[in-house]
Amino acid sequence: MPGDDCREALEQLHTYLDHECGADLEQAIRAHLGDCPPCLDRADFEQQLRAIVARKCKDAAPSGLLDRVIADLKET
Ligand SMILES: [Zn+2]
Repeated sequence: MPGDDCREALEQLHTYLDHECGADLEQAIRAHLGDCPPCLDRADFEQQLRAIVARKCKDAAPSGLLDRVIADLKET
């Protein structure tokens, strides 16, 4: 059951992974991930997803690719 801290961390996760948030926020999220395994798992998942998409998008990305990748990951 995610608390307020978790909701906030997950809301900022994309900004955090893109390194587009400020240093304060980045530090807060990193601290939260260190304390909170479920959020860390979620961050790992998002990071892997980005790596997979980045790799596949080196070739011309067919439309709907991201949806298929997400569906694949959900099945495993
Ligand atoms: Zn959390």
